[in-house]
Amino acid sequence: AKQTGKNKLITFQAMPLLPRFTSQIHMETDLRKAITENQLCLYYQPRLELSTGHISCLEALVRWNHPLYGMIAPADFIPIAEESGLIIQLGEWVLREACLQKARWLAQDKLDYQVAVNISPCQFQDESFADKAIRIIEQTGIHPSYLEFEITESSIMQNMDKTIAVLDKLCAKGISISIDDFGIGYSSLNYLKEFPIHCLKIDRSFVKNIQSNSNDLAITNAIIHLGHALNIQVVAEGVEDVGQLDILKETTCTTIQGFLLSPPVSAYEIEQTFHMYDNRPVMIS
Ligand code: C2E
Ligand code: MG
Ligand code: MG
Ligand code: MG
Repeated sequence: AKQTGKNKLITFQAMPLLPRFTSQIHMETDLRKAITENQLCLYYQPRLELSTGHISCLEALVRWNHPLYGMIAPADFIPIAEESGLIIQLGEWVLREACLQKARWLAQDKLDYQVAVNISPCQFQDESFADKAIRIIEQTGIHPSYLEFEITESSIMQNMDKTIAVLDKLCAKGISISIDDFGIGYSSLNYLKEFPIHCLKIDRSFVKNIQSNSNDLAITNAIIHLGHALNIQVVAEGVEDVGQLDILKETTCTTIQGFLLSPPVSAYEIEQTFHMYDNRPVMIS
């Protein structure tokens, strides 16, 4: 599998022999079609609570199954979706599909976990974002407290007053908010005391070398203690091996997500793998 910069596309088959998009317009045109013609799908990656061994949440991650080019990773099309404005429609599709999947699991009495949905900064800044999101959730019939929205520091730093209003509206409905990729944005920490935030997700660039780099370990430690002190949950992202896990346990990290437990997989696969853990703890390491 291929590696492009910081995003390892290890869940995808590299297909260098197939033709690819010839221009950005080409991709935009195809992406517009993809949203309406059901070429997008959601994969799910579990989050594990270390203290109990229980899964607490499934993060929904979008993939594009292109009829000619096969599976395309979000890093390859989310930026184009953002530039073209298609991210609004795409984001609505993702939220609706995540809610519908949660509704299916509820109906089958399976996988009783929250579902986390990534919200891009463009989406978050859209005037009608909160109202549209709440409407979509209500249309699917699930309770908003099943949802967590993952937003990034760049989403919230633009207009603090507006952000507070949006987050308060979402929280009033019971939606949880997490800060994704925490630590790599240009953040003041001030917002943590002002905003209703439930969870910080430590960016995986800190977790990656936690065993060998004492600065990464120090930063990870600091974020975890910041979370404890502010009563905000902290999730370590990108946990790939038992060495990292052991160190994270020592730092009193409560929750992890990463390939060690599971890569993002289809709804079907997550059911096959994790349904049996609904009532008992997951053992890793
Ligand atoms: P993210 O929200 O930070 O999601 C985590 C990414 O890290 C996922 O990549 C996941 O596959 C990958 N990952 C998880 N565990 C590990 C690990 O142990 N090691 C390594 N190396 N990687 C790991 P993915 O699915 O390719 O998504 C990349 C990014 O694309 C996401 O980062 C998110 O920012 C964006 N994205 C994905 N789905 C959506 C979506 O539905 N809407 C929006 N707006 N953005 C999305
Ligand atoms: Mg995320
Ligand atoms: Mg992240
Ligand atoms: Mg990210």
